[in-house]
Amino acid sequence: MKTLSPIVALLAATACVGCAPKGETPRTDAPAATAAAPTDSITTPPAATWCAQLPRAANRALTRVDVPSTWFEVYRVDDGVFALVESQQWQEAISYLVVGRTGALLFDTGLGMSPIRPVVEALTPLPVRVLNSHTHYDHVGGNAEFGEVLAVESPYTRDNQRGFPHENLDSEVVPASFCHGAPAGLDTATFQTRAWTATRRVADGDTLDLGGRVIEILQVPGHTPDAVALLDRANRLLWTGDTYYDAPVWLFAPETDLDAYERSIARLAQLAPSVTRLLPAHNTAVAEPARLGEMKTAIRAVREGKVKGVAEGGGSQLVFTFPHFAILTTQALLDGTRTDGKAGSSGLKVLP
Ligand SMILES: [Zn+2]
Repeated sequence: MKTLSPIVALLAATACVGCAPKGETPRTDAPAATAAAPTDSITTPPAATWCAQLPRAANRALTRVDVPSTWFEVYRVDDGVFALVESQQWQEAISYLVVGRTGALLFDTGLGMSPIRPVVEALTPLPVRVLNSHTHYDHVGGNAEFGEVLAVESPYTRDNQRGFPHENLDSEVVPASFCHGAPAGLDTATFQTRAWTATRRVADGDTLDLGGRVIEILQVPGHTPDAVALLDRANRLLWTGDTYYDAPVWLFAPETDLDAYERSIARLAQLAPSVTRLLPAHNTAVAEPARLGEMKTAIRAVREGKVKGVAEGGGSQLVFTFPHFAILTTQALLDGTRTDGKAGSSGLKVLP
């Protein structure tokens, strides 16, 4: 996910690094992270500064599409590709609708704070299959609205299919998490994500034919055990999920595996020359393919101790800032702490 821990949230507030409170840090822009003063508590609502950056320049450059929603901002990223952006909540989660001649794929279903299906149905009359970039709360919120949901096979995913209870998500619906208040119809006192059913399991190398458009599924574990990227070779597009976005990338959760992340980012970086743009799951709907190689180099430098991080979140988190993104991790992960990666998680827990 992109959110930041309370501290990150604070950063996010000042620039929205990963934008998120609680165990998660908001995904503020990297430069903002640099400018933000580390602190272990959120004393100022982050929304003010972060919201002032909206809509972000990269999104503003895209064509806006009118939809029957005051919560989702929809942008046309490419022919048949729409970004459904939830910029009014500090995760700034982005789901993507990819439309072929005979079917459509919805890559992520957002926060679950406002119905996404009516937005999707306004964009295409075709049958829609859902697949998630990973199963952190901010990407599966609308899964239960759809009848066909594809998912990778993993204990972690199965655990997360049960939905996340309010006590795991309460920090995501505090007043400071919204630019203009909660979306209509959301009860912030009880907000939780609904359980969902996987109707078909998919695996690395599988392809989805949408009719004149073939999407390849790449399993890229690291951020979570079930992280997925999508590749449209013909149209030279690569959806990176939370494995890469232009903001603080969250690599601090108990289910994060830095060894796996390095392998995955290296794999994606090899694809960079063959694509013209990245479509990430937070903040901006487009990013430069060259960032993948930069991230590959950056995470290696971080793990080798060649760059200095700034303590966050009361010291449990470390932020390493680079020109176009940041890496948010913990000393425990850098020290090699491993968890089994099988327990489900909303993605908001921080590995100490
Ligand atoms: Zn995310």
